[in-house]
Amino acid sequence: MSPQLSAVIPVYNEQEGLPLLFERLYPALDALGRSYEVVFVDDGSTDGSVAQLRRQFERRPDVTRVVLLARNAGQHLAILAAFAQTRGAYVITLDADLQNPPEEIARIVAAMDAGADYVGTIRRSRRDVLWRKAASRLMNRLREGTTSIRITDQGCMLRGYHRSVVDAVNHCTEVSTYVPALAYTFARHPVEIEVAHAERMLGQSKYSLYRLVRLNFDLMTGFSTAPLQFFSLAGTVIAVISLLLVAYLAIRRLIVGPEAEGLFTLFGIAFFLIGVALIGLGVVGEYVGRIYEQVRQRPRYTVAAVLEEPRPAAERLAEDRAVSDRPALVAGARVQGAPE
Ligand code: UDP
Ligand code: MG
Repeated sequence: MSPQLSAVIPVYNEQEGLPLLFERLYPALDALGRSYEVVFVDDGSTDGSVAQLRRQFERRPDVTRVVLLARNAGQHLAILAAFAQTRGAYVITLDADLQNPPEEIARIVAAMDAGADYVGTIRRSRRDVLWRKAASRLMNRLREGTTSIRITDQGCMLRGYHRSVVDAVNHCTEVSTYVPALAYTFARHPVEIEVAHAERMLGQSKYSLYRLVRLNFDLMTGFSTAPLQFFSLAGTVIAVISLLLVAYLAIRRLIVGPEAEGLFTLFGIAFFLIGVALIGLGVVGEYVGRIYEQVRQRPRYTVAAVLEEPRPAAERLAEDRAVSDRPALVAGARVQGAPE
């Protein structure tokens, strides 16, 4: 009854590109010769995307489901909303803008057939603007240094996750997260393959510099406390050096007498220390802000509607029974803001 594959696609104001996506995605999936479902999740689009998704659902209702979110939740929460609806044994995510060629899904499936439960991808020649590539390289390196997550190309969203990994992700309740990294923490046999990457042909990137910075802070704070440790360490070193400086100046005061020179040097040192303190405060603030969001326990996203074919009652019953077999986990998920 469950399909073999679920393709998950977040859509946010992608009306220009959707027709072409439908045109390429379905043949690519049909060609695999496996049962599949496509789960689109509309992330609060304000253009004609929802109408197009509805039409596509009417065209292929047997293999299409559409999750409509009430408002924009961000790409990663949108994907989590879709994950909650998937039934496939393999779950494959890709972007709606055709930067991830749907024809590459076959290679992810092959890697999963070979035993991988997490298929990461590396964009063979990434087609994005220069500053995006440079920023990604920097963030990749920073993340490698601070977390235990080993992903070569964290930005590529064409990825495959086994049902066991998706189930584990579905039991997480974190508000600000990064799906590939979160899933990685549950993977037992992660692999990486190279895939093609295309330029965004229609529509615009939904990530401004600010949103990218936020996303990378989510990644850093969500998977490591290294930034905090770095500041407690750096703070200790700086405090020791400052103490030595104070002792030195005190001794000079006793031996040489009062001195006015070197005032600006002291200013320089003071400004440096204030700067370090402010950055440290900011880092603490990033964590505190996320803890604050988390403890409020508001729903992470709101599902306005799910377009899907009515399922036979027997199938629904079987699913309900499967769910109530795990009462503890389900109760936890409900309380923590699962949107149902
Ligand atoms: N997206 C989304 N919600 C958002 C931002 C983006 O669902 O708030 C979707 C978007 O429609 C696309 C994917 O996430 O399918 C990747 O976005 P985009 O192509 O703009 O990112 P980029 O390729 O520039 O990193
Ligand atoms: Mg894109």
